[in-house]
Amino acid sequence: MTGESSKRSYVIGQTEISARPLAPALYLVATPIGNLADITLRALETLAAADIVACEDTRVSRVLLDRYGIRRRTTAYHEHNAGEAGPKLIAALEAGQSVALISDAGTPLISDPGYRLVGEALDRAIRVVPIPGPSAALATLTASGLPSDAFLFAGFLPVKTGQRLTRLEALKTVPATLIFFESPRRLAETLGAMAEALGGTRKAAIGRELTKTFEEMRTGTLQSLADHYAAADTPKGEIVICVGPPEATADEPADIDRLLLSLAAEMPASKAAAEAAKMTGGQKQALYRRLLELKNAGGDTPGENGRG
Ligand code: SAM
Repeated sequence: MTGESSKRSYVIGQTEISARPLAPALYLVATPIGNLADITLRALETLAAADIVACEDTRVSRVLLDRYGIRRRTTAYHEHNAGEAGPKLIAALEAGQSVALISDAGTPLISDPGYRLVGEALDRAIRVVPIPGPSAALATLTASGLPSDAFLFAGFLPVKTGQRLTRLEALKTVPATLIFFESPRRLAETLGAMAEALGGTRKAAIGRELTKTFEEMRTGTLQSLADHYAAADTPKGEIVICVGPPEATADEPADIDRLLLSLAAEMPASKAAAEAAKMTGGQKQALYRRLLELKNAGGDTPGENGRG
């Protein structure tokens, strides 16, 4: 363990702020994904007060801790030492200490270490407290223009072509926006594979270097984005890919009509459209218009009050 100090405070600008005592627990503290100003007051206070700060890489986290004048004890916890470091952290927690877990960037456990530690803590009735904050997946989703009412975080795709295709096939009909992490080296190839497996006309968005100097959001269809990155130099930095939900295909409308009619039998038309949108990932307005068409065409549908 390194950098130990009994001081429990943090510094913002020129102001040193004392951190309040922390109850013993495992704290999962989200940290910036680039811009070091993206940290919550609660995260600073937790890091400044914790008995132990467990870092994916202590050298990476030291930059953040130094920026805010935090001098707490750090220790490494990552996928290669989890078998050894995990039990030590659990022992410290059982002895009544507070442990803050941070990863190199963003929210711990999201394609980052911590899942096993949280499970082991919960098994021993140790309190686990999330301190929410930055997340590359959610930052990209919110700026993507893609539906955000239902989404599936799919992490990193397998690198091997066959395994990647199998995974994409499994995700193809999920009625939600899909979110992937990807390395810049593989971006063009992955977008090409996605266009082939999921359909080139699906809407998509690329978030690159979010919150950093060269932040970029690029939107288009999967095919247009695949073409763009195939023709461009390998992009630099960190990348998230969002893919919009599948559009209704030619053989689906009948299913959607049936769904709309059965929902409309139970509830008002606008609510039926909203429910159908949630279930299919479709557009509420379009589904509402379709339901009205069905009603006007003499479909066996009830009125807006859902009762007849
Ligand atoms: N736990 C982190 C989170 O909550 O954001 C994610 C960790 S994962 C090991 C790292 C991946 O997150 C990168 O390969 C990239 O796909 C994405 N990522 C991290 N920071 C990013 C940023 N500033 N802009 C875009 N993507 C980022």
